[in-house]
Amino acid sequence: MLFLRNNGNAAAMSIGLMGGTFDPIHMGHLVTAEEARQQFDLNYVIFVPTGNPPHKEKETISLPEHRYLMTSLAVMSNPYFFVSTVEINSKTPTYTIDTVRHFSGSEKEGPEVYFITGADAILEIFTWKDYEELLRLCTFIAVSRPGYSLDRFRESLNRACPEMVNKVHLLEIPALAVSSTYIRERAALGKTIKYLTPEPVEQYIKKHDLYLSG
Ligand code: ATP
Ligand code: MG
Repeated sequence: MLFLRNNGNAAAMSIGLMGGTFDPIHMGHLVTAEEARQQFDLNYVIFVPTGNPPHKEKETISLPEHRYLMTSLAVMSNPYFFVSTVEINSKTPTYTIDTVRHFSGSEKEGPEVYFITGADAILEIFTWKDYEELLRLCTFIAVSRPGYSLDRFRESLNRACPEMVNKVHLLEIPALAVSSTYIRERAALGKTIKYLTPEPVEQYIKKHDLYLSG
């Protein structure tokens, strides 16, 4: 589907992947994806909700169906945004490398893949599965939340993983302190979540009584 939309010229394609729990997706994710799309001239940004993320196993996460549907509602109005079920449909926990392999394909003509993720997460990349292959297969867009020092990030990255320095681009997203945790906490207290997430997502959360038990 993605290749056809580019008149068969797959070699020129570049896509952004944004993985996350998206419980729920919020304006921080959307503004970040849109900014990355424009700055890096991406043909598409594909949101990839996680199935059963290993590091969050013990927490209560909304059903994948809910997270998938909320993400789909959120991207509806943006012609460059898509949602993938590749991780949600996987029977086993998926790692970033599996998802990146899925989208980069085995052919040389596969799309150029940019993986969009938080700057903090990037600093731990050497703990990720098959990170060396990851570095070959994709370029990273490290987004920083407000108050984050990009200079310190560069230093830390140099210390942690010097071979990454050319594979990581930094993207500062101003004024976006919103997180899914913050939205869940507000919803649990009956506080308004209007404008923190797109309206259809807000309505979906209400309709399905999500996050009420805190
Ligand atoms: P939670 O509070 O449940 O951890 P979250 O808001 O961090 O949720 P995730 O689904 O965990 O959202 O994050 C998906 C991706 O989006 C991660 O790479 C994360 O670093 C990034 N991200 C989350 N919030 C923001 C934000 N406000 N601005 C920019 N990027 C963000
Ligand atoms: Mg998070």
